[in-house]
Amino acid sequence: MTATRLDGKLFAGRVRERVADEVTKLKSEQGITPGLAVVLVGEDPASQVYVRSKGKQTIEAGMNSYEHKLDEQTSEADLLSLIDRLNNDAAVHGILVQLPLPKHMNETAVINAIAPAKDVDGFHISNVGRLNTSQKSMVPCTPLGCLLMLRDHHGDLSGLNAVVIGRSNIVGKPMAQLLLNESCTVTIAHSRTKDLPDVIGRADIVVAAVGRPEMIQGDWLKKGATVIDVGINRIEVQNADGTVKNRLVGDVDYASAEKIAGAITPVPGGVGPMTIACLLANTITACCRANGIEPPKDLGV
Ligand code: NAD
Repeated sequence: MTATRLDGKLFAGRVRERVADEVTKLKSEQGITPGLAVVLVGEDPASQVYVRSKGKQTIEAGMNSYEHKLDEQTSEADLLSLIDRLNNDAAVHGILVQLPLPKHMNETAVINAIAPAKDVDGFHISNVGRLNTSQKSMVPCTPLGCLLMLRDHHGDLSGLNAVVIGRSNIVGKPMAQLLLNESCTVTIAHSRTKDLPDVIGRADIVVAAVGRPEMIQGDWLKKGATVIDVGINRIEVQNADGTVKNRLVGDVDYASAEKIAGAITPVPGGVGPMTIACLLANTITACCRANGIEPPKDLGV
């Protein structure tokens, strides 16, 4: 039997619809329009694409989008003063500073200048600490997207063995913490882990956030495991006529994994589309909290 394909594109569409419903409710019942400010410094082409996409989806959900595009040479002091203005602007409920920042800026200082309640990326040290102590926090978008997909598929995650491969601050660590908060038994594997196939073979849930194309093989998996592939890797493949084209693949070898797994996210079309959907969901959460309203449970933790 082949694994159930967990369609992130479809699911992200459902999350965005839920967000749009909440926006309509906030507007009609409270007279509030949620607002998301995105700050881009410099001309990094990938960042420009992300920011455009974020702005478009924010507007489609009925929210206000405030884009601030700053020159590559902008000083850190000027960026911090913009963040200060956004922190104090009541129409702005979420602030996202697109990473990476130019080299002359201190990324940590910039992130920690964002008001924690508006930190929709969940990278502020106060939100990291709050998540790790099971307090109300803003949760990083990609791990939140993975969790929403896991909850949608499994319902209750309590007691399941979960292995997160990767220990980055933006994916691996918050993912492991979210799963721990769901009462999973969590193992974090990384580049120094000995016998990765053995570690993965005990997992009911595998979350791969490594950045190595098709590294995780199907025969490493426990039969029926749920596999969430966060990896986005661009590889070159040869066409029959000898020409070369680019293809996106995950960290998991999908072809062998779908024969063993119970469910698996594809790449592309799995976790990827969930990240912006969760950014919009986090903006709703931040907006509700700022106005003393209980945020919708299904859009957060
Ligand atoms: P990172 O480079 O910061 O971290 C990679 C982690 O993988 C490290 O903790 C490292 O210890 C671990 N690792 C490296 N080699 C390993 C090996 N051989 N065995 C086991 N572990 C190993 O990467 P990141 O920012 O966490 O991103 C991981 C992947 O997820 C990348 O492909 C990235 O493009 C993708 N990503 C996708 C989204 C999205 O879908 N929206 C968002 C963020 C990251």
